[in-house]
Amino acid sequence: MNTPTSGQYHVDENGFYGEFGGAFIPEMLHANVDQIRRQYLEIMREPDFISQFESLLRDYVGRPSPLYLATRLSEHYGADIYLKREDLNHTGAHKINNTIGQILLARRLGKTRIIAETGAGQHGVATATVCALMSMECVVYMGSVDIARQAPNVARMKLLGATVVAAESGSKTLKDATNEAIRDWINNADNTHYIIGSAIGPHPYPDMVTRFQSVISSEIQSQLLAKTGKKDPDMVLACVGGGSNAAGAFYHFLDTPSVSLVLAEAAGKGVHSGHSAATSILGTKGIIHGCRTLLMQTKDGQITEPYSISAGLDYPGIGPLHAHLITSGRAKVYPVTDDEALEAVKQLSSYEGIIPALESAHALAALAKMEIKHGSVIVVCLSGRGDKDLATYLEHFTT
Ligand SMILES: *Cc1c(COP(=O)(O)O)cnc(C)c1O
Repeated sequence: MNTPTSGQYHVDENGFYGEFGGAFIPEMLHANVDQIRRQYLEIMREPDFISQFESLLRDYVGRPSPLYLATRLSEHYGADIYLKREDLNHTGAHKINNTIGQILLARRLGKTRIIAETGAGQHGVATATVCALMSMECVVYMGSVDIARQAPNVARMKLLGATVVAAESGSKTLKDATNEAIRDWINNADNTHYIIGSAIGPHPYPDMVTRFQSVISSEIQSQLLAKTGKKDPDMVLACVGGGSNAAGAFYHFLDTPSVSLVLAEAAGKGVHSGHSAATSILGTKGIIHGCRTLLMQTKDGQITEPYSISAGLDYPGIGPLHAHLITSGRAKVYPVTDDEALEAVKQLSSYEGIIPALESAHALAALAKMEIKHGSVIVVCLSGRGDKDLATYLEHFTT
């Protein structure tokens, strides 16, 4: 499934990437998180686990996802631009890779009940999907403001059999849903597994999620080898919310310095507009979701409400692996505004006949901001499809 690696960009035995990561959790959760920490690598190496994970990825998710040479986009930029088509996965994005892996793990840990938090509802849908598949009870926490503005995903979760619980505290959005999920986990620690939806959370979640998503970079290598005779591109580019699609797309290239790793984060209405989610620039060190990382916060440590037109990037933190990749200089970040992302949606739709998710469009928009070496090989992780964003596209493109 993936080669366990060690090196300066991999998690250390204490759960840190450089100075980021760790497990900052209430005492009541130590036993649960510790059980996962002690067992996740062992479980992920069991032949039986690997064969179940791989067959579900193949027959249920539809993997391997294609690696497509986008010819008109390549012509436009004077480089070979390949799109890793996570948008073609069942449920329309990369998130299902992680939820499949975690539900298989939960069963091996003897858990019978699944909880999750969700902002836009995409992780909630991916979780409800695998719970239906595995016939497990599913409770999804979601801020009541998000429930109101993400009605289609709420309907999907309910149809899939999940219970959606409204978080009514604070700003009634993602961080409040996360707090409620953690409270539930404390109260139901014996039978419940908490499926975190990105490369964030207390150790070992960031590493575990990254390993489940690393199927992306593993496929990129074998597909590039078959197409070009070389397994390594010059650059891998991905959008970053919490960081799971980027971590998965980077994983097998982390220790290969000839491969540039590039992130696109959401600048919203402009990095310094007060309506942004550009964590790498606006963030400072602190603790969010159980780990030490970069997050947007006030001087006294209150989390700043983020903003992006794209719900999946509308997150005030960034996974600890990415905080380390950025501060160490291994990865470069481009902030991309709402308007630039919308332009990239139009461009990909008309050039290639592919309507991308708004999140993925941030990665595509970063191409226009960088100097591209003529003839270089670039892989863009197309994390999701645009169907879920059609209402936004209608609003912006018909006037
Ligand atoms: C959720 C989501 C993202 C952001 O999450 P990461 O964990 O940073 O990958 C990006 N793209 C799509 C399509 C999403 O649904």
